[in-house]
Amino acid sequence: MIKEFKTWNWNNSYLTVNQHLYTKVTPTHVESPRLLLYNKNLANELGLLSELSSDVISALAGNGVLPGSEPIAQAYAGHQFGHFNILGDGRAILLGEHITPSGARFDIQLKGAGGTPYSRNGDGRATTSAMLREYLISEAMHGLGIPTTRSLAVVGTGDEVYRENVSEGAVLTRVAASHIRVGTFQYAAKFLPKDELREFCDYVIERHYPEVAQEENPPLALLRKVQDKQIDLIVDWMRVGFIHGVMNTDNMSIPGETIDYGPCAFMNTYNPATVFSSIDRNSRYAYGNQPSIAQWNIACFASALIPIIHDDKDEAVKLCQEIINEFPIIYEQRWAKMMCSKLGILEEKEGDEALIKDLLHWMEANQADYTNTFLQLTKIKEEQSGIYAQLDFQSWFSRWQARVSVYPWVEVQKLLEKFNPKFIPRNHLVEEVLQKAANFNNFGLFQDLLKVLQNPYFNQEGCEYFQEIPKNIDEGYQTYCGT
Ligand code: AMP
Ligand code: MG
Repeated sequence: MIKEFKTWNWNNSYLTVNQHLYTKVTPTHVESPRLLLYNKNLANELGLLSELSSDVISALAGNGVLPGSEPIAQAYAGHQFGHFNILGDGRAILLGEHITPSGARFDIQLKGAGGTPYSRNGDGRATTSAMLREYLISEAMHGLGIPTTRSLAVVGTGDEVYRENVSEGAVLTRVAASHIRVGTFQYAAKFLPKDELREFCDYVIERHYPEVAQEENPPLALLRKVQDKQIDLIVDWMRVGFIHGVMNTDNMSIPGETIDYGPCAFMNTYNPATVFSSIDRNSRYAYGNQPSIAQWNIACFASALIPIIHDDKDEAVKLCQEIINEFPIIYEQRWAKMMCSKLGILEEKEGDEALIKDLLHWMEANQADYTNTFLQLTKIKEEQSGIYAQLDFQSWFSRWQARVSVYPWVEVQKLLEKFNPKFIPRNHLVEEVLQKAANFNNFGLFQDLLKVLQNPYFNQEGCEYFQEIPKNIDEGYQTYCGT
């Protein structure tokens, strides 16, 4: 046991849920823990020390157990690319729940800390590069104001990890509202009797959506809440061009955070068919498919809740269907509102949808960069060059100028700046900084990029390098799951 760490404030409520839903485990010992990254801002928010002792660094790599932590691996199931599988934390270990000074509860999880009973044939390990990638992109999502799990630390293990190549392993400390997923409910529905499923559902409601407990049918109200959160999340992803890449039901969080940064990437040139994941051969999780896949996942969530929504199964299905049918309607409304905001339109009017869609079609036809095109809106015509000087863009731009001229420009500008990031994690930059950091232990450029991404809506002098996109840079770009 490690003695000195006093600032963790553990309260492990998940140990009170049904015992079939987790297994007590111990992280596997590693050779030589070495701190690679520590998120002092997040530590501060959590009420933790801004420096780590060597004992704690070791514990965050899996050597030793912090007092008060009661490590478990969580069981879950999930539809992976549409196929149902029994899963569980195979390379993640939940240390416990930490309560912040303001009373918020967070899961503290080690990712890559060795095998668990759910590892199947996997080694429970993760490469340094993959953990640095999750750290960088999850912090970028947070900077963009999008709900996400956070990254507190990355600790190198000194052990080798065998993938296509041999590389050093690392453990990420992940912080989440919880790691309860649609897949957790699918597992509970498959293995627990109805009353125990209901107990688990009540636990989740109390933890994440306590207001729902007062409703007439709490499980049904939970379905509506989770759907509502997911719609907001997907609208946010679409706003910034984020492609999750592996929207399996085990990667959809009940509290509505972006979770599991495996093959995710950001779109450069606008094209709804964009896919980067090497294993997504049928483009199931393409950029433009994300809303309908989210609805599909919510339907899986509903299926898991059916037994506790109504004793009459047909009635339960009908009640769920009414909610799920609303998904595309609500999504379209919120998406249109978000796109209007990206165009600086204060209130949606008839004709705005055409204005939006014409711009998107123009981007697609001209292979225009999604992020940078919106940044053109704050420029005057004379400053626009390249494809933006073309007649078709200019005529769209005049239409847009006329549309927003009814509002005070300061208000328009405020919206434009709020909804359109100036910086996103460009794929080629992410690769470059990861290469340098993971292979050569050179974190200079990684830190520079991280800093820019923490404030993506502000102009940052001397940072144009992080906005430029070399031509055809994404051709053949592939991302990988679980590396
Ligand atoms: P993911 O693709 O990261 O969502 O993981 C899907 C499932 O595979 C989960 O049950 C993971 O725990 C498991 N998994 C992924 N990588 C590994 C690994 N290296 N060792 C053991 N299990 C793994
Ligand atoms: Mg996962």
